[in-house]
Amino acid sequence: MYQAQKKIYARAVSGWFARWRWALVWATQIIFYGLPWLQWAGRPAVLFDLPSRRFYVFNLVLYPQDFIYLTGLLIISAYALFLFTTVAGRLWCGYACPQTVYTEIFMWVERHIEGDRPRRQKLDAAPWSLNKLWRKTAKQAAWIAIGLWTGFTFVGYFTPIRSLGGAVLAFGLGPWELFWILFYGLATYGNAGWLREQVCKYMCPYARFQSVMFDRDTLIISYDAERGDPRGTRGRKTDLKAANLGHCIDCGLCVEVCPTGIDIRNGLQYECIGCAACIDVCNGVMDKMQYPRGLIRYDTLEGMDKHLGRAQEIKRIFRPRVIGYGLVLLLICGALLVSLLMRSPFRVDVVRDRGVLSRVVDDGWVENVYRLQLMNASESEQRYRITARGLPGLATDLKTDIEIGSAQARWVPLALRVPPEAAASVGPGSHGVEFVVERIAASADEASRTQVEKSTFMVPR
Ligand code: SF4
Ligand code: SF4
Repeated sequence: MYQAQKKIYARAVSGWFARWRWALVWATQIIFYGLPWLQWAGRPAVLFDLPSRRFYVFNLVLYPQDFIYLTGLLIISAYALFLFTTVAGRLWCGYACPQTVYTEIFMWVERHIEGDRPRRQKLDAAPWSLNKLWRKTAKQAAWIAIGLWTGFTFVGYFTPIRSLGGAVLAFGLGPWELFWILFYGLATYGNAGWLREQVCKYMCPYARFQSVMFDRDTLIISYDAERGDPRGTRGRKTDLKAANLGHCIDCGLCVEVCPTGIDIRNGLQYECIGCAACIDVCNGVMDKMQYPRGLIRYDTLEGMDKHLGRAQEIKRIFRPRVIGYGLVLLLICGALLVSLLMRSPFRVDVVRDRGVLSRVVDDGWVENVYRLQLMNASESEQRYRITARGLPGLATDLKTDIEIGSAQARWVPLALRVPPEAAASVGPGSHGVEFVVERIAASADEASRTQVEKSTFMVPR
């Protein structure tokens, strides 16, 4: 049921794929830590303002009604994940997943304070001393600091980070802000410092279902057993044929660098996160032995079995499943983009007053009462004119235009009225009407926009 965790002392590795992984660590972290500090038109460029239910993303001001865009983004992320996984396996896990990125950062700190694999193993096995105490304390302090800074940055996406920083310095954080900074900070510290590969092996659902997206043409990290076996130690000058040896010198370095502690020579395993550390280290060994690189490499099962060349493998990328995912992805991206470009800079919601369905007022006019919510999704103050149509003589009781500040929303109560003769001509019952809300252009170079919202008008018996 439960296996005690065996501590993994991953060895440091350098090489082409390690450089890519670090490039992605830098790119994702510069974006994550930097974005909340970026100002745009006098406000944070990206802010998810939950209390006022507004989401600012550069020029965009989104309301809860724009939830469809978030849904679109999630669908795009899912399809992109399917597409990349089908083509090249666990690219996401190996290079961009936050668990990988933070584990990489935390391991870097660990290596710089406690040393590489052999020194860490020695330190852990040694009895407590001043040297061990300060190194362990310094590592934990650095991990906690990174965790808390990450938690602070995360909350900075929901509360303007500059005022959040001021509140931290003045010990004036609200209870929820404090809770989320600690929660997210401790989650980062726990996942990247302590749990590490356990998250990928036992907690991440993607590790379990990604194999259904694999086929025989998916690029995976594989050990070329045909070339590598039989394994064994030897000198550089050893005649491999005479000694009946393959190219694997059985140095075990591919296992020592593996952050999940597996031996890729045993074949594809779900624990493999596709980080390519074993490729880098094995290529280094091959260089030293003056064997060709690529004993462990990105390859496809079909490519390995049939000894396909790179060009043949690239050709096989464009198979029906990949083309299908690609087309759906393109379609959804296109639809989302068009919908964003055509998005109205204001929104209107009509709510009928349920308390007063319909009443007869002065001179026999029939009146219905409504509330309109106007949301100005632009970055400047706007003026709106509300009219109604759909019944003869239909008029609103509004005397003036409505002004709404930038990114503000306002409820406007209003009544619609029809003269008695019109009410008699259409007869009692429910009749369709339309509210026409026109955004009045502030200047000649600004186009006015109109939005029409349907509702009903009740004429009593
Ligand atoms: S690093 Fe390469 S040579 Fe060394 S054990 Fe692994 S596969 Fe064999
Ligand atoms: S087997 Fe290789 S690619 Fe897979 S997790 Fe281990 S080091 Fe990374």
